Amino acid sequence: MTDRNDDLFDAARAVTPGGVNSPVRAYGSVGGTPRFLASAQGATVTDAAGDTYIDLVASWGPALLGHAHPEVVAAVQDAATRGLSFGAPTEGEVELARLIVDRVRVGEHAPVERVRLVSTGTEATMTAIRLARGATGRDLLVKFAGHYHGHSDGLLAAAGSGVATLALPGSAGVPAPIAAQTLVVPYNDRAAIEQVFAEHGDRIAAIIVEAAAANMGVVAPERGFNAFLADTAHAHGALLILDEVLTGFRVHPAGFWGLQASAGDVYLPDIITFGKVVGGGMPLAALGGRAEIMDLLAPLGPVYQAGTLSGNPLSVAAGLATLRLATPEVYARVDAAASRLADALDAALTEAGVVHAVPRAGSLFGVVFAERAPRDYAEAQAQEAFRYAPFFHSMREQGVALPPSVFEAWFLTAAHDDDALERIERALLAAAAAAALAARP
Ligand code: PLP
Repeated sequence: MTDRNDDLFDAARAVTPGGVNSPVRAYGSVGGTPRFLASAQGATVTDAAGDTYIDLVASWGPALLGHAHPEVVAAVQDAATRGLSFGAPTEGEVELARLIVDRVRVGEHAPVERVRLVSTGTEATMTAIRLARGATGRDLLVKFAGHYHGHSDGLLAAAGSGVATLALPGSAGVPAPIAAQTLVVPYNDRAAIEQVFAEHGDRIAAIIVEAAAANMGVVAPERGFNAFLADTAHAHGALLILDEVLTGFRVHPAGFWGLQASAGDVYLPDIITFGKVVGGGMPLAALGGRAEIMDLLAPLGPVYQAGTLSGNPLSVAAGLATLRLATPEVYARVDAAASRLADALDAALTEAGVVHAVPRAGSLFGVVFAERAPRDYAEAQAQEAFRYAPFFHSMREQGVALPPSVFEAWFLTAAHDDDALERIERALLAAAAAAALAARP
């Protein structure tokens, strides 16, 4: 039986590669027809066939407050009446930059003094890398296998997210000399970092790292690992780029860096990238850092970066409203919901006799079909990933929308109330049973 989603998928494939505008949306690793969404409200999304689901994707992270929060929508509507885009500086951009600077501070530690607004996380990391190269006069970049930092050329080697879901080593179309500028090392592996710096230390511009990895499933940094990266980079005259596009303003008012610094694990990244929550669901991302580094960007410095839609007034309005509404109570609520669901997920899979772990990093969590939470990409890939498709479809049939890949985090919002959480908990039992019955391909 086909429904409106099937018809739309057929129509989409005729005019769009694979029928989608971002690969994981195509349901490649779970099979079936992607839901074409028509609307979203609070903790739910509604598809083109009129079916409503409790949503655990949250637009892949931005919807911290829940979908279509009335005050965020009103802020965007209000901004729209004054003009959609100016290509000139606005007061809102100053307010948003100030808000970011003020939030990313723990005690006397304040790694962000200046902010540049861009439109996507990809742009933020791409610019951060150019800036690190401009600041150090060096070319090489160290990244971790399974980490995803957007789709710019140098960052697709052994990347997470869709690249992991599609089991690709990287991407065609990246010139070999550009790929050769990226050195890929295993995550949470101090010896590998020491070795790469011993061999290439004077040519490395920066290490780029997800503040907590969440694009190969959730893999938290081992305690002290991010601080070790900062120390090692600095000892060799290189920079640390902390990618908080996914974690920033989601796991703590000051991001994963803030979560760690508040727990006494303090280190100073040189550039931090933000995205997702900072734009409240509109296209907006940012990079920030100390003035001496950030001021190397044009027009003050020699590192060029620009954007017609950078600091777009509608996106800025959504970001400002979202960050202002993202109070400590919101984080406490999302944390509590995450703990409750992670425990329920663990219990359901245990009950069904499925080998699993439920890795966590702050309020981010996910499922891994392996005996223990992975510490790196090789371990994440070694799991029984085939159990995810039947688990995913069982949840969907029971009205819960999970990310369509085992390599993605589950995202909660402050709008997931008791009712929503109970519905998810109930669905987990049958889904766990479906995962138990999954046949190895
Ligand atoms: N960095 C991280 C850690 C991400 O998770 C993502 C996207 O998921 C990006 C960068 C790229 O952001 P965007 O998809 O907005 O380009």
